[in-house]
Amino acid sequence: MNGVWLEDGIVSLRDDLPHPIGGENEAIIRVLCAGICSTDHGLISGMFPYVGVIGHEFVGVVEEGPESVAGRRVVGEIVVACRRCLVCQKRRTSHCPHRTVLGITNRNGAFAEYIALPIENLYVVPESVSTEIATFIEPLAAALQILEQVHITSEDRVLVVGSGKLGQLILRTLMLTGCALSCIGRSKRTLILCPKRVELYHVEQLPDTQFDIVVECTGNSEGFKIARHAVRPAGTLVMKSTYPGALEIDFTSLVVDEVTIVGSRCGPFVAAIRLLESGHVDLTALIEHIFPLSQAIDALSQSRQAGMLKVLLDMRGD
Ligand SMILES: [Zn+2]
Ligand SMILES: [Zn+2]
Repeated sequence: MNGVWLEDGIVSLRDDLPHPIGGENEAIIRVLCAGICSTDHGLISGMFPYVGVIGHEFVGVVEEGPESVAGRRVVGEIVVACRRCLVCQKRRTSHCPHRTVLGITNRNGAFAEYIALPIENLYVVPESVSTEIATFIEPLAAALQILEQVHITSEDRVLVVGSGKLGQLILRTLMLTGCALSCIGRSKRTLILCPKRVELYHVEQLPDTQFDIVVECTGNSEGFKIARHAVRPAGTLVMKSTYPGALEIDFTSLVVDEVTIVGSRCGPFVAAIRLLESGHVDLTALIEHIFPLSQAIDALSQSRQAGMLKVLLDMRGD
């Protein structure tokens, strides 16, 4: 099988990977399309130790599975929990200490021709949502997780720090709350893609007001600093990124200002699918390039460039 293998910080295109064997209650999925995410670059640069096929944002067709999903176009939740431990029994499956995570922890990922995932992780993609757009379901769900965690109303002033891939998805979901929304970005070409009505700031001219809720999604310490300074006393700081290395944080000021910090990761797939089906968010402008799997190494280096939005790998017709 063909796929993108990561080992010792080096990614290579391999044609000798074993075809996945589905475990109990798992389906075998032929990948149609997969999205490159900042987490993939984080893995390559050694943020977490991982050896295997990378890639976790995918759309595929179930080749082996029960009737409910066989032959259907699906997306899948990436965390595979043990379903037996105490954490799982308390329904916090995404925090299962024995979990594997597609293309991130102990489970070969989606930059390959086939993957295996439990049937209960799968969601059928509605006909009206194209395969390319459906690759956004996983990161869109992650963006929607903020709305599961923080109550945002039309009274709130909200700032998103970062206008890249994830920031754009977050802006489009926060728009739905009717809040007063602003965005700070470094790249002028991504800032102009922010939805209308979003107040825009370039990193060189920071806002002089503070915000009720600030969402940090840059994944770098400069972004964190901007976010920290922009949140008002007794406000909420939503942390949407992982960071290479340790962040330097002045915790005393966070205590004195009584800032609530919310860590935010994977989110509700059903909501993301409904949102795309309803047509209330348009993500077409966020696709920069589509490469065949055979050009995955080029695709990865393209997607790394500053200000680059979503780069997709298309496994069809390779
Ligand atoms: Zn991702
Ligand atoms: Zn568990």
